[in-house]
Amino acid sequence: MKLNRRGFLGATAGAAAAASLSAPMAQASGMGKPPRVVVIGGGAGGGATCARYIAKDSKGEIDVTLVEPTRTYYTCFFSNLYMAGFRELGSIAHSYGKLASEYGINVVHDWAVNIDREAKTVSLAGGGTLTYDRLVLSPGIDFVDGAVPGWDVTKQNAMPHAYKAGSQSELLKAQVEAMPEGGTFAMVAPPPNPFRCRRDPMSGFR
Ligand SMILES: Cc1cc2nc3c(=O)[nH]c(=O)nc-3n(C[C@H](O)[C@H](O)[C@H](O)COP(=O)(O)OP(=O)(O)OC[C@H]3O[C@@H](n4cnc5c(N)ncnc54)[C@H](O)[C@@H]3O)c2cc1C
Repeated sequence: MKLNRRGFLGATAGAAAAASLSAPMAQASGMGKPPRVVVIGGGAGGGATCARYIAKDSKGEIDVTLVEPTRTYYTCFFSNLYMAGFRELGSIAHSYGKLASEYGINVVHDWAVNIDREAKTVSLAGGGTLTYDRLVLSPGIDFVDGAVPGWDVTKQNAMPHAYKAGSQSELLKAQVEAMPEGGTFAMVAPPPNPFRCRRDPMSGFR
């Protein structure tokens, strides 16, 4: 399906993460200018996929900007295979170059720090401001300070969680490999929701 200006409003109406869906998009974008979509967060489960399909299906009619601070995204899926020595870390690393070159997405490597829903702007940590007609929020989940007794993010290098793949996976793998024969480790599998690799009551852990 090709997305056009008129169709986009209907296509996004069911998306829980899309904000400000009330005003007609073409009108909001102003005469002659392509509608602008800003997507915050370039994860595989949400933002990067959403940005890609809006850009692909609108065939350039919608101006898509993806805001993501990291230049390399490491997938959590398959990180277990890296951990066990079946894959190299590079095989779970993905850059954002193809989204720009193949789909014409403006990839901005920065943090979104504020959203003004009235003005329809997103402020970036680097000082820039982006304007949008439609905004997609997909920053994933993060740690809740103090939620785990005796652990906080300042301890993540000593006690790696590997919930964010990449350097955390490397650390955890190194620790596992450095364990003495017959050593002891403790883990909770899986913790209760909300959890990054959630439990599905219908299909069990996945
Ligand atoms: C060990 C492990 C194994 C897993 N295995 C599987 C599996 O086999 N299959 C499966 O389907 N799922 C798996 N998952 C779950 C899967 O990784 C997540 O469901 C998925 O990553 C969620 O994608 P997301 O795009 O919502 O969030 P994320 O992948 O977390 O991406 C969010 C992005 O938003 C960015 N961001 C955050 N805040 C801001 C901001 N303020 N401004 C700009 N950008 C921001 C972050 O940098 C990040 O890149 C696993 C998870 C873990 C921890």
